[in-house]
Amino acid sequence: MHCPSCGNEDLKVLDSRPGSDGESIRRRRECPSCSRRFTTIERIEKARLFVIKRDTSRADFNREKVFESMRLACGKRPVSIETLQATALRIEEQLQKKFDNEVPTKEIGRAVMRELSTIDTVAYVRFASVYQEFETVADFAEMVETVQREEALNPFRHLQKELITIPTQEEKS
Ligand SMILES: [Zn+2]
Repeated sequence: MHCPSCGNEDLKVLDSRPGSDGESIRRRRECPSCSRRFTTIERIEKARLFVIKRDTSRADFNREKVFESMRLACGKRPVSIETLQATALRIEEQLQKKFDNEVPTKEIGRAVMRELSTIDTVAYVRFASVYQEFETVADFAEMVETVQREEALNPFRHLQKELITIPTQEEKS
């Protein structure tokens, strides 16, 4: 590495501290020859994680998307952005460990649900209702049953009911 101003390679480290995401180190550096100060960020190089889509094509895993889907599900709920960022990071790490470098799309949804169920029940039910399109109705009903077992859900019984009511042929016509 060299000084961005004068190109000098002999740089001094003034200060090192952990980055806000907890997975990087920020170093404040100074160039002794021109006194320019700047910051470098050092992080572990991770193996790329790919997502296997339903049509079997591959895409890069995007932690930001995981975060965003949880943020939407947590709209107006008392869940902090920091909690969701830390959760998104944890989900990425779990998937990386479990699937090495290729993870099926539906496993991401499952991991998100697992985490949301421990964070906020309403957000969990919201996410699960969107997630429906990825899973069979049977799986979804099973999931809602799990939610029903949670005492905390009592005030939101009407919401559950809406989600698990699947119109029969008669009701449709
Ligand atoms: Zn310099």
